[in-house]
Amino acid sequence: MATVTSEQALGSLAANVHGSVLRPGDPAYDGARRIFNGMIDRRPRVIVQALGAGDVMQAVCFARENDLLIAVRGGGHNVAGHALCDDGMLIDLSRLRSVRIDPKRRVADADPGCNYTDFDLECQAHGLATTGGTVASTGIAGLTLGGGLGFLMGSYGLACDNVRSVDIVLADGRFMKASAEENADLYWAVRGGGGNFGVVTSFEFQLHPVGQLLGGMVIWPIQNGREALEVFRDVTMTGPDELSCAYAVVILPEMGKVALVAACYNGPATSGAPLIRPFQKVAKPLVDGIGPISYLEVQRLFAEIPFGLQNYWKGHFVREMPESEMDAVMDAGDAMTSEHSAILIEAPHGAASRMPDADAAYSQRDKRYNISALAIWEKDSNPQRHIQWALDFAARIEPLSG
Ligand SMILES: Cc1cc2nc3c(=O)[nH]c(=O)nc-3n(C[C@H](O)[C@H](O)[C@H](O)COP(=O)(O)OP(=O)(O)OC[C@H]3O[C@@H](n4cnc5c(N)ncnc54)[C@H](O)[C@@H]3O)c2cc1C
Repeated sequence: MATVTSEQALGSLAANVHGSVLRPGDPAYDGARRIFNGMIDRRPRVIVQALGAGDVMQAVCFARENDLLIAVRGGGHNVAGHALCDDGMLIDLSRLRSVRIDPKRRVADADPGCNYTDFDLECQAHGLATTGGTVASTGIAGLTLGGGLGFLMGSYGLACDNVRSVDIVLADGRFMKASAEENADLYWAVRGGGGNFGVVTSFEFQLHPVGQLLGGMVIWPIQNGREALEVFRDVTMTGPDELSCAYAVVILPEMGKVALVAACYNGPATSGAPLIRPFQKVAKPLVDGIGPISYLEVQRLFAEIPFGLQNYWKGHFVREMPESEMDAVMDAGDAMTSEHSAILIEAPHGAASRMPDADAAYSQRDKRYNISALAIWEKDSNPQRHIQWALDFAARIEPLSG
């Protein structure tokens, strides 16, 4: 007996979309189900590589009629693997990557498959930018729907705070616009509520003039990591909106285990220099890369992490960084189980913290730090040791997350 997703049914779906319809065995199938985290190996029954909102509407209706679970893929960076499902339908948006700028209104209309290279290049061609992820290959869609921390958040809020409107296909296949004026409840939900409310097929972002900045990285031997972390805490607790910093412990091939701060001052260098100088004065940095820098260079400070490595990330948003937490960071740095792993501390502040809780679904406005253990490794017969490292670290900082 033919199943509901028979060849005939899939053939009629393929006839109704511009994009591709892939099924297991098709040459492009395995590439299309590949996401950032190599641990996630799921096999959808069908993949629709959408080329427009119409394709998404067709795909959603088909999945409903055929009782298929839907997963939606933007940039594919979600470490938990929410962009992939077993046996259902994957709506892959990664071929939709165009960005249209209205320089007069300072607005960008961006497709949901864009990553931050696509987005930032188009915006910066007009001297514009808005808050976005700090790794170029991260998808704008999943990042924005989840909130979106980045180097401009102190000045302009989170990525989601800069969403003026979205086009969205709902679970019943209907196409809608959501903005402050139209379907305001949906507009509230997509700004921090994740990908649970429909498939966003276009984002309209508010942009801001962003010219030359002051910033870069300062890198120390891990022995100076604790001192650097104390300075990081002091600077981030007192710094102005314009200054955003992140702290990390990583292992660099040419330097071994190091602590680093990436800093970005979104304003005149003369005002930013004294604010960043405390980092430059910590011990003897291996690298002092602070200087005039473009936004595109800031967005490349953090190296790409290749797709396909094994990833288990665990962390918490916390209100403060007492001694015990700094001890936990340094201990986890000592105990790292893989050369690819990292401890990362982001510091939401300024405009990102001031937006009233009730205005959008995002829920961590009162937290000062997002502290994570990023366990990243190549395939290993004992993956549990990497996972346990991340879990142990997260357990130590969890008491501060309430
Ligand atoms: C290397 C790396 C760097 C990162 N850097 C940052 C950072 O600087 N700041 C930050 O805030 N976060 C950062 N993150 C976290 C990142 O924001 C999330 O992983 C985010 O989910 C990635 O979005 P994506 O589109 O690439 O992911 P995907 O895995 O494609 O999607 C993530 C989730 O959103 C849903 N989704 C995707 N597109 C749509 C859509 N159009 N409509 C509805 N739902 C959709 C998916 O179904 C899934 O549930 C980083 C993650 C990685 C791996």
